[in-house]
Amino acid sequence: MGDGLGDNEGDEQGNHLNGGTVTSIFQNCRLIDGVGDHARDQVDVIIEGTTIKAVEPTRARDAGEGRLIPTLGRTLLPGLIDCHAHYTLDPWARDPFSQVAREPVGMTMLRAARAARDGLLAGITTVRDAGAPRQLNFLLRDAIRNGLIPGPRLLSPGCAITITGGHGMTFGVEADGMDGLQQAVRAQMRDGADVIKIVASEAAMLTGPEAAVEELTQEEINMLASEAHRRGLRIFSHAQNSISVTRSARARVDSVEHAFLADGAALRELLDNQVTLTPTLAVTEVTLERDDLTPAFRSRMLHIRDKHWWSCEEAIRLGVNVVASTDCGEPCIYPSLLWRDIRILHDRGLGAMNAIKAATSRAAVLLGVEHFVGSIVPGLQADCILVDGDPLTDLAALGRVDMVMQAGRIVHTRTA
Ligand SMILES: [Zn+2]
Repeated sequence: MGDGLGDNEGDEQGNHLNGGTVTSIFQNCRLIDGVGDHARDQVDVIIEGTTIKAVEPTRARDAGEGRLIPTLGRTLLPGLIDCHAHYTLDPWARDPFSQVAREPVGMTMLRAARAARDGLLAGITTVRDAGAPRQLNFLLRDAIRNGLIPGPRLLSPGCAITITGGHGMTFGVEADGMDGLQQAVRAQMRDGADVIKIVASEAAMLTGPEAAVEELTQEEINMLASEAHRRGLRIFSHAQNSISVTRSARARVDSVEHAFLADGAALRELLDNQVTLTPTLAVTEVTLERDDLTPAFRSRMLHIRDKHWWSCEEAIRLGVNVVASTDCGEPCIYPSLLWRDIRILHDRGLGAMNAIKAATSRAAVLLGVEHFVGSIVPGLQADCILVDGDPLTDLAALGRVDMVMQAGRIVHTRTA
């Protein structure tokens, strides 16, 4: 069948319409529901319209009950959630940041549409975008929401907020001082932000070996966090060194991104302030697989990767809540690579089920959408994926997505 997008519309394939509502039944699945601590076998999951209606022990059913979807030894899971992605940046470019500043807006949007489709086909049904030039993630979000193009549900911050000349200026808006930063955060809200993204430090991969110097002051991050929270939005902070991680944690942002170079004391601040960590692990691992690195860059990357691994391991040891993400849009980081991040979370010490929760229910809680998506329980939206194999024994199975259902509609099927 190939990768069919939207090729399984209910009525066209003789599906079952009860008063216009399609009923689909995943039969005899192995189910990982995103919240439980164990997989369950021999389960039927019944989808009515856009919603999960019931999860019950399997039994013989006749075709009149609904569209029967045989699961054939595969595992059903909630649609995956990517907590940090840049769909407007070009992972095929050597330098996505300068490319996006140069290219026509139309090209950026077309590529973003492709990224959204690629993410959805990889089983990712919800995404927190981490900043786009010219607030193009608002357009992308709205085009997906309006059914113009396929893609995950997107939570968009508009532009990331950074200082003049700071990291992220090509996918952000530059602002300085308390008044300027306050105006910048209010402008993102005015223009339709679902969430706020700030840049509290440089990026170690782009600067000197131990650089990643902090860029926002404690007072500034406090103001940005309270401004977002006062208006009912969550806020996440790019922070790579100990000082910026500590400041972001103390300001009680909802999540800190990367923390590549954070020490134990900074990571403990995350725990003490109940701040989630989005480590973006795939970035350092995949970057080291590139064959175009200079020896100097490779040795710097190895150093950063080792620090990054240590920081993630320590956060997991301490009990910091961690979630999964791709950080796609970085060179060679594609929207489909979420499974890599989940697998590295496991390699760094998170149990396999918790690594899956980091991309399902726990990610949903961080994004504030847990009453809607992130688990397979009755009443939630029917965002589900069928994967080939058992992710609990082989997390790479999450990279072998055979079927994607979004809001009750099968949007992708793959046959060998
Ligand atoms: Zn990022």
